[in-house]
Amino acid sequence: MPGRKCIPCSHASRLDIDSKMVAGVSDRAIAGQYQISKSSVSRHRGHIRQAIEQAETDVSSRLVARLQKLEETAGELLQEARDDADKRTAIAALLAGVKCLEALSRILETKQIEERVRTLEEALAHEQVTIQ
Ligand SMILES: [Zn+2]
Repeated sequence: MPGRKCIPCSHASRLDIDSKMVAGVSDRAIAGQYQISKSSVSRHRGHIRQAIEQAETDVSSRLVARLQKLEETAGELLQEARDDADKRTAIAALLAGVKCLEALSRILETKQIEERVRTLEEALAHEQVTIQ
């Protein structure tokens, strides 16, 4: 969560500042251009990461909700096809449902891997702090 005292977070040119930081412009150059301290720019770096992670989570949540809805629709179509004894449509609905479940499973797997990477990165960051 961005701290309320973070100057770049509440800066009118935040998007420009973030873009330059992501593009690799030095903290010193950004500080000079926007007349904020270099330490403020450095502290802000973690907030960009949080914003990116939040955006990824939002996109992922919307995708999951959409896939769940599609899977539900496939289930309804399957039921209708069964009621009509329409095996061809039933198989198509079944395959559509399976594809949705496969996509959901891949998203879940990716989230688990990302969570493990994050845990390892945090452990590594903690390790570097204690070594110094
Ligand atoms: Zn910030």
